[in-house]
Amino acid sequence: MLDVLAEGEAPARGDLAATVHRVADGAPALLATDLGAARGDGVFETFGVVDGHPQAVDAHLTRLASSAALLDLPEPNLEQWRAAVAIAADALPRTRQGGIKLVLTRGVEGTGIPTAWIVVTVAERDFAERQHGIRVVTLDRGYASDVAQRAPWLLAGAKTLSYAVNMAALREAARRGADDVIFTSTDGYVMEAPTSTVVIRRGDAFSTPRADIGILPGTSQLSLFEFLRSAGFRAEAGLIPVSGLRDADGVWLVSSLRLAAPVTHIDGMPVRHDPEMTGRMNAALLARDA
Ligand code: PLP
Repeated sequence: MLDVLAEGEAPARGDLAATVHRVADGAPALLATDLGAARGDGVFETFGVVDGHPQAVDAHLTRLASSAALLDLPEPNLEQWRAAVAIAADALPRTRQGGIKLVLTRGVEGTGIPTAWIVVTVAERDFAERQHGIRVVTLDRGYASDVAQRAPWLLAGAKTLSYAVNMAALREAARRGADDVIFTSTDGYVMEAPTSTVVIRRGDAFSTPRADIGILPGTSQLSLFEFLRSAGFRAEAGLIPVSGLRDADGVWLVSSLRLAAPVTHIDGMPVRHDPEMTGRMNAALLARDA
């Protein structure tokens, strides 16, 4: 773990390396009074590292800044974060896929100074779901698709540390014999999965729910749509009624670490699955640049 405490001037990478505080696995690292731990009051980003290269760093840093703005946190120093990401990526073995998580919290209660850290992990998973697919259930999110406009204090669209609800939804999926969830809005639209974006295929057209319905704008979906357009497909964000899941020619959950996982069943009903297309999608996502 790298503790990047100062949110000041952007230092050169060498200067930052000298001041970075490395914390060994299992060593104490955070005060119990940190509002990130005590209230989930903070934001984070997770992205993949492939062959030593952190993926889509610019898109993740842009989203970190927009999540921070939604929570009225101090503006993150993106050059400092970029330098810290490079140091973190160097800590990973080149031969393994890994992950880097950036966290920015409101800091220790009463200080007004944000806390920032990075966690570096080697991927433990074998990502077999990219081949075999996943079974999902639809679950009601409890919000209408205008939640972001009507109730901005719910922070829809920010990647906050408060993921307890998302994790509860995954446990509910497991109770129902499924691997994952597609959240739906109270007014009948497809939203997102607890840790992934939903992508749907119909013929040669791909679609994903518009981010302004109160979901996180996905960086993997963005890269995937660039690839799909360059390969001659249509790829657009829109309002997708729940019925669109049933007559789809393919459904995927996409995110930075899992990449594209094809959905094989929704609420127990089989979904068409094109392994060749999934393979092309994952090859494109693995080849992404920083
Ligand atoms: N939606 C939610 C709620 C997420 O937590 C995530 C990723 O963690 C995503 C979508 C996918 O985002 P990305 O592709 O940037 O990883």
